[in-house]
Amino acid sequence: MEQQRRLTDAELATAVLDIEDPLAIENLSRTRPDASLQPSIIGEYHRPTTEQAIWCCHCQTHRHWNGFVVENETGNRYVIGSHCGPKHYELSFASARRQHTDLKQRQGLSRRLADILLVDAELLDSITHVLQSEGLRRIDAARAAIKKAAGDMFFRLQPIAVRGATLTESVRVRDYAAEARRPSSDKRDESPIYSFENRSIGTLEGAGLLIENGDCRDELLALRQALIEARKAHTRGTDSITTTDLQKIVKRCDEAHSRAEHAIALARRAPAFFSNENVSRLERWSEQFDAFRVQRTDVGFDVALSRGTAVRIVALEALELPHLADLGTASAEK
Ligand SMILES: [Zn+2]
Repeated sequence: MEQQRRLTDAELATAVLDIEDPLAIENLSRTRPDASLQPSIIGEYHRPTTEQAIWCCHCQTHRHWNGFVVENETGNRYVIGSHCGPKHYELSFASARRQHTDLKQRQGLSRRLADILLVDAELLDSITHVLQSEGLRRIDAARAAIKKAAGDMFFRLQPIAVRGATLTESVRVRDYAAEARRPSSDKRDESPIYSFENRSIGTLEGAGLLIENGDCRDELLALRQALIEARKAHTRGTDSITTTDLQKIVKRCDEAHSRAEHAIALARRAPAFFSNENVSRLERWSEQFDAFRVQRTDVGFDVALSRGTAVRIVALEALELPHLADLGTASAEK
């Protein structure tokens, strides 16, 4: 359970927790507060050291550039230096400080949620546009066609696509180290020893064509769900939500948005799978397998299968995907 909060989310929305001029605050008392009364921090101040130091109720003089404005049950407010707070109040200051830190975090999250909900309708529209786009439909169709015609190749390429990794070929190399390790009894054996090592052929381009789980469509649906949840939380009222859960809601939207943008960028590059360079790499890469062999054609490439047949894979033409609306800039406080 969270501590009872000093402010509701509606109050927090407009609360000033960073106080510009602490000595101008209402109900300011210059006396030393009763240390046995639990303080509540209503704000903090940070002043540049080029200015005059701020007055402190504990020191009874102008001494600090960083500190707090606190209030107790008398309704009076006091300005106290950041190190004098714990000195004056001892343990009770720590809990006041925790509450204040939580409120500041919550205020940042509430403001971020408000920013998200300013643009969620527009963003939901743009998600629908991408989902229903001709470009995405063509990627789906091309992926399904490759998977069906050349499943073996598809399932070997897919993990490479998911990792954003390079294609490799297996190369036979002379293993001088192994030759040197030959036992002395074999001294007169000078036959070369070979081993195989994987060498990079180059990046697998157009990986977005092969990724099934967590593809553009999945990431857009996840973003849509995150926005719907955020809107629901706001409609129900966030006061009943813990700060941890509020953070999860906001973070989920932010992360889902950046994943969706990344997935759209990958999908836009899907036709690069059929670029000249990539098809050359696929041809070289496929030489190590018995079950299939890639051969360039005028329209894309053929995949020759071990059973003596070949399937034709037609290149995916250049495509366009609609733009995904922004989610505003993430606030610094999370
Ligand atoms: Zn002080």
